Amino acid sequence: MPKTIIVSNRLPVKISKTDDGYVFSSSEGGLATGLGSVYKHGNNKWIGWPGIEVTGQHDRENIRHQLDEMSLVPVFLEQEEINQYYEGFSNDVLWPVFHYYISTYTVYKQSYWEYYNIVNRKFRDEILKIAEPGDVIWIHDYQLLLLPSLVRAELADVSIGFFLHIPFPSHEMFRNIPWRYELLEGLMGADLIGLHTFDDVRHFTGSVSRILPVTVSANIITTGERSLVVESFAMGIDVNKYATLPLKKNVKDHISAIKEAFKNSKLILSIDRLDYSKGILQRLQAFEQLLQKHPEYAEKITMYMIVVPSRDTVPQYAQLRDEIDKRVGNINALYRKMDWTPIHYYYRSFPIEMLSALYASADVCLVTPMRDGMNLVSKEYVASRINDDGVLVLSEMAGASKELIDALIVNPNNINEVCEAIITALNMPHDEQKERMQQMRALVTKFNILHWVKIFMDKLKEVKQMQRSMQ
Ligand code: UDP
Repeated sequence: MPKTIIVSNRLPVKISKTDDGYVFSSSEGGLATGLGSVYKHGNNKWIGWPGIEVTGQHDRENIRHQLDEMSLVPVFLEQEEINQYYEGFSNDVLWPVFHYYISTYTVYKQSYWEYYNIVNRKFRDEILKIAEPGDVIWIHDYQLLLLPSLVRAELADVSIGFFLHIPFPSHEMFRNIPWRYELLEGLMGADLIGLHTFDDVRHFTGSVSRILPVTVSANIITTGERSLVVESFAMGIDVNKYATLPLKKNVKDHISAIKEAFKNSKLILSIDRLDYSKGILQRLQAFEQLLQKHPEYAEKITMYMIVVPSRDTVPQYAQLRDEIDKRVGNINALYRKMDWTPIHYYYRSFPIEMLSALYASADVCLVTPMRDGMNLVSKEYVASRINDDGVLVLSEMAGASKELIDALIVNPNNINEVCEAIITALNMPHDEQKERMQQMRALVTKFNILHWVKIFMDKLKEVKQMQRSMQ
């Protein structure tokens, strides 16, 4: 019986070290839930890095054994590998280039590239230990771009799918990477390559046709004897979870507390991981402009801003965090009143129950990234609006804007436009809110995470059949 193997940089578990040994908790992320419908069945597996450095052989065996009971297979990484492959090549080269942040942030270190190769091979070796002819292997994201061809070279008769969770940039950006040829070559081992949006597909095939000696016809790439397909699959969320959480007792309690705390003002929600691609500073600028130009909104609106700590040992991220601290401090110092603080800022992560209560309570959700593969926060807000009210202000640079066309769509660089969109949102008649939200909720409900998994898997099967019929 053929099996399915999911492969991603991180396993869907959090492991922490305590005095009593290692403790495992499963991830609540949407991807983990969606792929749970796959890897938890039969003898399917999920291969990935457990997220912490484990050095002792005994500890490694112990962890391997415990993970095995959850159908998970660890790839252990040394600290230097984490530094150079993950923080270096993945987050310091690929992430900025793919998000169009090239001039300031990109370092093309040869050693990063070497470690990226070493670690991709480590993943291959782990796959080869368990994969057999006929199996389906679904590889995820920018940390593992070389893996499809590495696996294909050793195991010709498997189906390989690849999904990129971040944007694929235009060729003019991508061509800057010294190893552009090798990266695309690495992907050519796949049978199906999935990206979030049609624009990503266009960018990808554009780069492939310029850089590799292949033929590209619509969304089919032919390289030597093989043909592979590139297609867009907009990722969805676990909509059921977000639609039912606000009905739970403890979430309802949070909602009441939030409503009481902000009873005199409208709540504008902003939630991101700390990242320069999220447009947090520009968003603050738009909010400040609103307070400055429209003093009538003083005491009537409050921004609830959550920034989830991420990569803050990297200097650019630490600098961004400091800059956000400063801007929030300045705005609050300038505009606050005795009983009113314009921005409630939290630099930490929140439990899902509190996030759900915030989504369910906020009058406006402000999602204005400079560039984002999809952006799940926007979809989670929509899914949480079980009364069909609330307004989403959404950047046209987020993949989600291609689907959530009933949001107020803005260019995040246009501070004036964002400021005006907030005002429009705050004053939107209830009927219009409802009309827009119903459309968006229907879409998020239909194209949920399970649907995404299913259409990707179905397409992979179809591509394999197409290849066989061409042989
Ligand atoms: N999130 C979280 N804890 C928090 C705030 C947010 O786990 O305190 C989650 C949020 O629910 C969403 C994810 O982080 O699922 C962010 O995903 P998104 O696609 O918006 O951005 P990414 O961080 O992947 O770039």
